[in-house]
Amino acid sequence: MRLSVPKTATQQNSLLQHWPSAFLFGVVFAASLFGIWSRPVGFLASVWPANALMLVVLLRLPNARHWSGWTAGAAAFMAADLLTGAELLKAAILNAANLVSVGAAYLVLARQPTEMIRLRKPVSMLYVVLAATIGGGAAGILGGIANIWIFQGKLLSGFVFWWITEVVNYVAILPIFLSAPSFRKLWRLLGSRAWFIRRDDLLPALAVALSCGVALLVGGPGAIAFPILALLWCGLVYPVFLTAILTLSCSLLALTFLSSGYLSGYTTGFDNFAVISIRLGTCVIAIAPIMLAIVMRNHNELLARLRYISTHDSLTGIGNRAAFLDNAGRMLSEAPHPSAVMMIDVDHFKAINDTHGHASGDEVLREIARRIRACLRSTDQFGRMGGEEFAVFLGRCQPSTAQEIAERIRASVAMRPVVIRGEIPVPVTVSVGLSFSDEACGRCLDTLLIKADSALYAGKERGRNRVEIAG
Ligand code: GH3
Ligand code: MG
Ligand code: MG
Repeated sequence: MRLSVPKTATQQNSLLQHWPSAFLFGVVFAASLFGIWSRPVGFLASVWPANALMLVVLLRLPNARHWSGWTAGAAAFMAADLLTGAELLKAAILNAANLVSVGAAYLVLARQPTEMIRLRKPVSMLYVVLAATIGGGAAGILGGIANIWIFQGKLLSGFVFWWITEVVNYVAILPIFLSAPSFRKLWRLLGSRAWFIRRDDLLPALAVALSCGVALLVGGPGAIAFPILALLWCGLVYPVFLTAILTLSCSLLALTFLSSGYLSGYTTGFDNFAVISIRLGTCVIAIAPIMLAIVMRNHNELLARLRYISTHDSLTGIGNRAAFLDNAGRMLSEAPHPSAVMMIDVDHFKAINDTHGHASGDEVLREIARRIRACLRSTDQFGRMGGEEFAVFLGRCQPSTAQEIAERIRASVAMRPVVIRGEIPVPVTVSVGLSFSDEACGRCLDTLLIKADSALYAGKERGRNRVEIAG
């Protein structure tokens, strides 16, 4: 009995380890069926998402990068073909070309860092194109040979058709699934309602719909470029994932209708070469908005980081002096009265530094900031003015409430010692100077700060660990 327990656990573990391969099988099987279903009888499919999706699963689920993942992929390709009545040998040759395509593209991308694979670097799209070109080219060689034998066609035309089709499929599909948020992140996003779209945010998508409509009416090969301006606008405003989805939708529309002048009666027929050229052109056009979205995402992240650094205190994470003065000044000018200002100074802080060292002093400052923050309302402004001095601005606050909050802050700091280095308790107290706005005060944050500071020093002289109200 005892021996069977670890054995079962191991079996369960190995089963769990292989779920990405089972997932990969499901994805490749379904995508192959879709490709087979959508291809014209007796021809190769021009919409073949299975290779690109297999590559995505291999890149995004590290546990699928295993012999079992590759076997599952090969089995899924074969199963889909055989179940839909393909001959074994033909299916084996065509699927060998699929696997060679995925393998070659995989070799290009799998060596890249996650940032590159998840389309977080501006050059990411160039790697996608490189992987698509090499993967498609590798499959094209086998496909060219298969073209002679299976479809009685020519080597070169088989190679070119297969190559271009692969490139178009990879470039259309990879950006969407490589930039897609993980299931966990998507769940969190839906829960937080951060996905909620403002009315202004809909404008670029509307522009895309409008330009696609115009392209549909005008028709002709030039129409594939009509939505590009609107898609670039999407790249400026939307996340990479959404931009990739819209770009793919436009490309599909372009490939199906626009180049044939569906509504306008533009009926110039295209030979095979023109169709291939239009496909490739559409795919190259689709790269630009996605690249722009990646650049914008990096730009916005950088701006957000810089904004955070310029408004926050790096030690305690609360607002810095400039941000405090800005925010409190704005709140005071919007609602001058009643409001209150507190200056808070740690008592005998130099002694803590001298006894326990500067790093422990920093630990104490962080904990004191946390304790003060916990006493405040979310609308109150709190900042570190420098050294061991903090300031608080309480907008729309009666003097009696402000006094209660100040007393609560003093008590919560003094209530228990701060434990430094995980073991040494250090008793700490703060002194608080409190000043109130009055009808005449108007917008004078400086005056309120000076008054609170004088009260603070009076408190220090009267013995510290106390709240002193400005006279
Ligand atoms: P008082 O009760 O009168 O306020 O005495 P105090 O010792 O707190 O005041 P004093 O102005 O003499 O000393 C403040 C000390 O705070 C001196 C300075 O080295 C220390 N200090 C300033 N900024 C930091 C910091 O970022 N980290 C640490 N650990 N110490 C700091
Ligand atoms: Mg001080
Ligand atoms: Mg001090």
